[in-house]
This record gives sequence, structure tokens and C-alpha cells, in this order.
Amino acid sequence: MDPLDKLEFSQARKKLHRTQQQLAELLGISLKAIHSYEQGWRPVPAHIERQIFFFLSKKNNDTSSSLPCWEVKQCGMKEECPAYEFSCGHLCWFICGTRCDCTEQLSAKEKIGICRSCDILKSLLE
Ligand code: SF4
Ligand code: SF4
Repeated sequence: MDPLDKLEFSQARKKLHRTQQQLAELLGISLKAIHSYEQGWRPVPAHIERQIFFFLSKKNNDTSSSLPCWEVKQCGMKEECPAYEFSCGHLCWFICGTRCDCTEQLSAKEKIGICRSCDILKSLLE
């Protein structure tokens, strides 16, 4: 799946209740870079996308009682998975080497593309 597009990026910023300047500060990047992502002039890099999802997930943790990935997916592989080992049932998309959906051998950039098709990550943008 493609990285966040300009509308999704802008939507995520609003969900985080940040102005463009405030989001630039939170991500440690320039205001110009934020403009570029929201105008669609530059693709959102994978490391920025991961930070956005990280902040969205922490925001959601405050307000939702969502279940960890192994319960949502009724996972039979959790005992072998680093997401379970490190108690990261809401951050499984952040961790490489997870055992589901063929993400085990993938780079962080490839993996986030697969995870973006998964309900666990999609729910953060809803
Ligand atoms: S990330 Fe790991 S624990 Fe979570 S559903 Fe996938 S295999 Fe199971
Ligand atoms: S596909 Fe990605 S987001 Fe979905 S459960 Fe597996 S690691 Fe988590």
C-alpha cells in the first residue's frame, strides 16, 4: 500500500490537534516539509509515517479500550512474535519481525505498507 497521501497526512495532523508548525516541532522537521507533504509535492517518508502512527496510537490509548493485535486477529503465533514478547499489541506495526501477514522478513518500510492494509493500523486514521 502507498504511503500516507496528502489528505491522510492532513487528516492525521488534525486528529493530533496540531497546527502545521506544531506538528513540525513534534516531528523535528521543517514547516516547509509539512507543507510539502500536505500539498503532495513530496511523498511522506516511511520514518515520518511511522512517527505519525505512533502518536495517533498513543492518543487512541488514552480514549479507547481497543484490544491487542493477538486478540483482534485471534493469533495462533503470538508466542513466537516480538509484538507479544514486548507487550506491543497496539504497536505491532512498529516492530519488525512480527509473524503475521508475511511481515517477518520485511524491512520497516515494506512492512508498514502491508500493515496499512490491516485493521489494526487502519483504525488509527478512522
Ligand atoms: S503481530 Fe504478532 S502477535 Fe500480533 S497478530 Fe501478528 S503474529 Fe500475532
Ligand atoms: S499486519 Fe501489521 S498491523 Fe496488522 S496485526 Fe500484523 S503487524 Fe499488526
